[in-house]
Amino acid sequence: MMIESLVRNNIKVLKPYSCARDEFKGREAHTFLDANESACNAPYNRYPDPLQEQLKKDLSAIKRVPSSRIFLGNGSDEAIDLVYRIFCEPRVDNVVAIEPTYGMYKVCADINDVEYRAVSLSDTYAMSAEALLQACDEHTKVIWICSPNNPTGNDMDRRELQKVLTGFHGIVVVDEAYGDFSELPPMRMFLDHFPRMIVLNTFSKAWASAGIRLGMAFASEEIIALFNKVKYPYNVNMLTQEKARELLSDMLKVERWTNDVRNERRHMIPCLMELPIVKQVYPSAANFLLVKVTDADAIYKYLVDKGIIVRNRNRVSLCQNTLRITIGSKEENNELLGALRSYRR
Ligand SMILES: *Cc1c(COP(=O)(O)O)cnc(C)c1O
Repeated sequence: MMIESLVRNNIKVLKPYSCARDEFKGREAHTFLDANESACNAPYNRYPDPLQEQLKKDLSAIKRVPSSRIFLGNGSDEAIDLVYRIFCEPRVDNVVAIEPTYGMYKVCADINDVEYRAVSLSDTYAMSAEALLQACDEHTKVIWICSPNNPTGNDMDRRELQKVLTGFHGIVVVDEAYGDFSELPPMRMFLDHFPRMIVLNTFSKAWASAGIRLGMAFASEEIIALFNKVKYPYNVNMLTQEKARELLSDMLKVERWTNDVRNERRHMIPCLMELPIVKQVYPSAANFLLVKVTDADAIYKYLVDKGIIVRNRNRVSLCQNTLRITIGSKEENNELLGALRSYRR
């Protein structure tokens, strides 16, 4: 199916805002009197590059995806919201997602008044392509798949994912926010095979930059052009673009950080499993562990009283009595283990 036929009509016919920096491009110039900026306080008096071309060029070399197939937003959350605004007609279209998963897919569906169909994973947190495809009808525009999945931590099976990508004729979003912690090859490498796939990455997790709010979407040029048409003109500020380029200039450091997290994760699993309050540590390809305990509410509260905050997932479907524990520094992890060792119910 053509991308065009999946796009909302108002977006298809939209004439996007044209900012000063869009209208003047190229040629030598030194006097900019076109955007009502101040002449003081350089360089922050100027609007940032609306398409972040330098940053995308740097990123393109690292992610091995051409700039024309990259969208950058104010966190992945911007890309998630844009998917609804581009493809989903409120009160008409629907989306399908695995359950449990990242909460923003549902929140953005509700904000955009789009029906959200949750399809449960199995009791081992495995995804069924057949179940996802069965939940679709002629108004299903998007399927959301998070892998490694939040909060379960596991990779979704690649054969099942491939079945969804080939069997569904709408947009498939694969959120790889935790992809750098996984052993599987990144899905952005297969953009050529799946022209309706959107892959999400973020600076917030392995790249250790949640504070600068920068998310990435990789997709066909046609889909990226739609993102660029609908986004706010200056959606990524100058400070963020600068800080991101600084990080990209030292990717060895980032790889070291990621390896440290994986090593700590490996170290934490047996330490947690030997605690009497721990029933199960689920397999994780992410920077957190989902842990089944005897009494999640009580242990959560006990940890809060000690100033240690984890995520209580007790009320999430298939996650009864679980805590989602982020892998922290060695010191933080040891503090958590020490506290859990002295827990008495
Ligand atoms: C943390 C997380 C993100 C990152 O969101 P940002 O807005 O980029 O910080 C995206 N998807 C999932 C599943 C996450 O857990």
